[in-house]
Amino acid sequence: MTAGSTASTPNANLYALFRSRFPADLDDCWLETADGRYYSWRDLERGSAKIANLLASLKLPAGSRIAVQVEKSAEALMLYLATVRAGLVYLPLNIAYRADEMAYFIGNATPAAVVCSPTDFGWVAQIAFSSGVSHVYTLDAPAEGRNSGSLLARAVHFPDTFDTVHRDADDLAAILYTSGTTGRSKGAMLTHGNLASNIAVLHDAWRWQPGDVLLHALPLFHIHGLFVAAHGALYNGSKMIFLPKFDSGAVIGRLPRSTVFMGVPTYYVRLLSDPDFTRDACANIRLFVSGSAPLLADTFTEFAERTGHTILERYGMSETAMLTSNPYEGERRAGTVGPALPSVSVRVVDAEGKDCASGEIGDIQVKGPNVFRGYWQMPDKTAEEFTADGYFRTGDVGRFDADGYLSIVGRSKDLIISGGYNVYPKEIESVLDELPGVLESAVIGIPHPDFGEAVTAIVVPRDGAAILEPAVIGALKARIANFKVPKRVHVVDELPRNAMGKVQKNVLRERFGG
Ligand code: AMP
Repeated sequence: MTAGSTASTPNANLYALFRSRFPADLDDCWLETADGRYYSWRDLERGSAKIANLLASLKLPAGSRIAVQVEKSAEALMLYLATVRAGLVYLPLNIAYRADEMAYFIGNATPAAVVCSPTDFGWVAQIAFSSGVSHVYTLDAPAEGRNSGSLLARAVHFPDTFDTVHRDADDLAAILYTSGTTGRSKGAMLTHGNLASNIAVLHDAWRWQPGDVLLHALPLFHIHGLFVAAHGALYNGSKMIFLPKFDSGAVIGRLPRSTVFMGVPTYYVRLLSDPDFTRDACANIRLFVSGSAPLLADTFTEFAERTGHTILERYGMSETAMLTSNPYEGERRAGTVGPALPSVSVRVVDAEGKDCASGEIGDIQVKGPNVFRGYWQMPDKTAEEFTADGYFRTGDVGRFDADGYLSIVGRSKDLIISGGYNVYPKEIESVLDELPGVLESAVIGIPHPDFGEAVTAIVVPRDGAAILEPAVIGALKARIANFKVPKRVHVVDELPRNAMGKVQKNVLRERFGG
């Protein structure tokens, strides 16, 4: 609770909000796993109470962080909700992080407890204990012949009721470390109020309705899977079908029993490459949502032709939750992320901070009840990222069209300055992607003695097509100004992507920078 608040103010704890929206019959199915286990809403209420009681028994100071690096499971989601319920701060970490990365996150966030997979206990516990963490637990999905871990073994002895701890809207609920495709990860501090306001807005914008079933294939350590997808179902009191990871066969098999699916663009590309992904398979789906990385216009169009569904693309980030969305009713425009969501203010400004006219490219800045409280233990960095009038500088560059639809052109850090001219990678990538034989591309700046930076293209051929550097350069010279034409074109089999499908331009800069 923040200083000065009293327990008589309404409880803004996010769990209390979800609890108030559970279905009337707690025996309804809350979550179905890929191996066919069912959990009821009562199981969620009781399971999260047991874990919350265990956490409360540790008598941790308010604001203590619980760092969690575990495989996706119903129990992992219960642990998240138990942490919030107990008034503590949830800190999810990508399961792929190894020792150096974990040492950084644990050292930086100084959590009071760490929960990891039983198989990683040895090395994670060593890092945690040497950083002064007092409690390390393990957690895995219960399955025959597998150790489900010490967290549940301990929690099972605690009562299955728990009074959700009183929190104010400004109290922290979670810290999300940014995925760090540029620079070192920073911890984005999100409050109960940030997350509650965003999910209420998304609930209305996407017309969540009774009877919806969410097919959940995203990871749980990221904003998309946790605060957009899982929160959406929790807030709507809807059942989730939970897949441990994306697999096109597993998704296609469950689409007929689902109504909502959310994915990163890579999921949609993979579904389209599966011949079993048909119009019939999608007949029961009400809404396909894409985000976290740009959805290619080609994918958008091919998807509509194959399934009759128009993917709804939205835009957001760890620091702000969701910012814009294509409309549920009305035109969903390929290559755009739609207008600002209600209650969110989004503006595009020039270098002097003045609003750009529609069609003009500038920096995207945002304000609203969804915008985070700042970067964990980085007050200077936080202050730098906010304008005098309270807008957060997203670091994304974009433009509004005349109808208020936003298009993302790239990250400002990816902007290339070549010979004094600004080059926006997205513009060149769009031209490259239209060339015959090109599947997709990434454009980066490489240090250059004359130009400062040289525009460099990395291209993935379509179905083994032969791509020749001089031909690509020649084709681009006919289409765009000379200063934008790549000086070099490299051909690769695939682009490096992180778990959320974002192209890792830092990896490309390292590889082709020499
Ligand atoms: P994260 O904090 O990992 O969710 O990353 C947020 C960043 O992902 C944003 O700042 C954007 O650069 C990018 N992003 C998210 N959604 C989209 C989208 N629909 N189109 C293009 N970029 C996106």
